[in-house]
Amino acid sequence: MTSKNTLGTVGERAALARIFPRLPAATTTLVGPGDDAAVLAAPDGRFVVTTDMMIHGPDFRLAWSTAHDLGVKAAASNLADVAAMGAVPTSLVVALAVPRSTSVEWLEQFADGLRDGVTALADGCGVVGGDLSVSDTLTIVVTAFGDLQGRAPVLRSGARTGDVVAVAGALGMAGAGIRLLFTEAVTSGDGSTPPEPSADLGRALRRRYPAVLDAQLAPTPPIHRGPEAADAGATAMLDVSDGLLLDASRIAEASAVGIDLSSAALDDDVRAVAAAHPSLADFARGLVYAGGEDHALLATFPASGALPDGFRRIGVVVPAAAGGPAGAGSAVTVDGAPYDSPGGWDPYRDWNGSTG
Ligand SMILES: [Mg+2]
Repeated sequence: MTSKNTLGTVGERAALARIFPRLPAATTTLVGPGDDAAVLAAPDGRFVVTTDMMIHGPDFRLAWSTAHDLGVKAAASNLADVAAMGAVPTSLVVALAVPRSTSVEWLEQFADGLRDGVTALADGCGVVGGDLSVSDTLTIVVTAFGDLQGRAPVLRSGARTGDVVAVAGALGMAGAGIRLLFTEAVTSGDGSTPPEPSADLGRALRRRYPAVLDAQLAPTPPIHRGPEAADAGATAMLDVSDGLLLDASRIAEASAVGIDLSSAALDDDVRAVAAAHPSLADFARGLVYAGGEDHALLATFPASGALPDGFRRIGVVVPAAAGGPAGAGSAVTVDGAPYDSPGGWDPYRDWNGSTG
């Protein structure tokens, strides 16, 4: 057994020495891990930087996520933010605080998840540094850097009336995954809320419904579509982390426009979610419109050009409604009318035992 081989017994330096060889190198690295800081080339003269924190409890459950899953998800969510600016991800630094009892094997599997996520989603990107510390609450912080390669950054504020609204990547699948985990936990549990996660249940569901569970636990958004969208003239872009309606409203408000989504254009997404599990059929529409964490890329493009590969049209930019109600979601309509249930659904934070 490797159970005695924990961070507490081997220490931080030895654990890091086991982790770092597993991580991919970045092609922009001038001075890599081993010194006090890394040195990276920035040929563009500018670089994109973003950070994201994942905390056990609010953001994930160890019962359902493997160490490998968490590595993939930590990479994917940060890479999507870089891509949404129109940049190519170049490097990550990773800070991890784990309970002292965490096995070195778990840390190695987390590193392998980071490697596999980065390698699959952003070729040439690497992990150039990090830190490891001890905490009762597992906390993962990733900072990602990107290269605009001469492009202008794509902001949220550039959408113009008449632009096409388009998306690359799945919508609603990650939300379907977390709803499935929570609702099955309720069905099979004692009715307590929030439902107590079960690792056995999570593994069984993963085997039977891999599409939605993988989308939630180890997402693989189309990172390369971000720079491609910028090259195609995207006027605004972000990644869908909190739900289509809420994230679309962020573009609308930053750009002082309205966004009208087409329900017909989103029907395939609704059908895909509904087909994933019988219990999702009644919620599929809401999950496509308000489910978060897919990290699909939502962008606006001038109507005059063709959409780049991988993007599908889901709506149009319209003038801001004069005198309309303020607040998130108010600037976004579906088929010209307000959507009846705006806002993202976050079961980790908002679970109240209802199915609404
Ligand atoms: Mg984002």
